[in-house]
Amino acid sequence: MNIDTVMHHLDIFNNYGYDEETGGINRIAFRHAERLAALKFSMLCQEAGLEVHFDYFGNVIARRKGKDNSLPPVMLGSHIDTVKDGGRYDGLLGVVAALQVVQHLNEHQIETDHPIEIVAFTCEESSRFNKSTLGSKYLIGDLTTDDMKKLTDDRGKTLFHLVDTLKQSMPSDSDIYHKGDLKAYLELHIEQGPILQNKHKDIGIVTHIAAPHRYKLKLIGETSHSGSTPMPMRKDALTAASEIALKVESIAQAHHQEGIVATVGYIQPFPNMMNAIPGEVKMLVDVRGKESESREKVASEIEKAIEAITERREIKAELEDLGADTPVNLNPEIADITEDVCEGLGYSYRFMFSGAGHDAMNMALICPTSMIFIPCKDGISHSPKESVEVSEIEKGVNTLIGTTIELAKKDINI
Ligand SMILES: [Zn+2]
Repeated sequence: MNIDTVMHHLDIFNNYGYDEETGGINRIAFRHAERLAALKFSMLCQEAGLEVHFDYFGNVIARRKGKDNSLPPVMLGSHIDTVKDGGRYDGLLGVVAALQVVQHLNEHQIETDHPIEIVAFTCEESSRFNKSTLGSKYLIGDLTTDDMKKLTDDRGKTLFHLVDTLKQSMPSDSDIYHKGDLKAYLELHIEQGPILQNKHKDIGIVTHIAAPHRYKLKLIGETSHSGSTPMPMRKDALTAASEIALKVESIAQAHHQEGIVATVGYIQPFPNMMNAIPGEVKMLVDVRGKESESREKVASEIEKAIEAITERREIKAELEDLGADTPVNLNPEIADITEDVCEGLGYSYRFMFSGAGHDAMNMALICPTSMIFIPCKDGISHSPKESVEVSEIEKGVNTLIGTTIELAKKDINI
């Protein structure tokens, strides 16, 4: 494995969308820099002797033949887009690492039984359309052109308009992967959390991907003068919101052993001025867990708490359920293979779940899927401060290579 090539490729791709002032990377889905990066990826794949194509949505998929091309491929990859002012590794690492797997196989003239496909997904981040993992959703047939017409960015452009203008190909059923089309999907990603660093582990073997249940809450009290309204006569929506935020925190804290996290990440008071009691607040609540059952228990506990707090404070609450995604179990057999690979290489590892969503959670709906995490400094991601050591990347790519070679063997059944 050539770590210099990996680092060089990371540098090349991070020239697309680099902001000199912030030091952040801006490869926002379907903007110029992100599409150039996708094109560059396709060229590097071609140089590596792969058959490469863009699907209608703009995902890049490249194939290395196996000994038996009637067998379903093992797919590796991640996403090439970033958030605004994102980091250098989120998504990109898994794409560059997938390419390195193929280059390693080429260099060592390793023929695999199953073909290998590598993919650079687009539009994984929700920054532009408030919905994440759209590229992989398209790939598995979970995003139709009608769905694309309903999603708009903050400039009013529909996703459909962007995708259809690019016309990388016609929308086609051959773009869509169904159950049985892939032997497995494997994604290397930075952890985006602090656990591996704190526990001094080289590799995280991901067993579950947590999923959110989200709420929009509108609290309606009474706006009045901050000077002339006595304390007992107030209906302050912001203090109610504050109490709710604290309660959300303490409920989640009590369940953190079950892998629960909950956050009030957005709060907007009205009229939001010095001399008025806030009569209205909008807030967003995000509850996540690795299992539906425990998460739903917590979610209903939070719903009850909101009811109790607003009733006591005589605040009207309009709670809108924004929906719950299903947490995903990843494939335990692949996890065992990765464990063996780590032991063979002398890397420390731990089994863990992912708090963040990934393309892998869509892929898991159609094929056995696994994820490999490497640590990132202080768990910081979605920031120009995102940082990973070269030695950590090297271990991650080696683990990906080892797992892929095993998975691509005909006699390994998962
Ligand atoms: Zn990512």
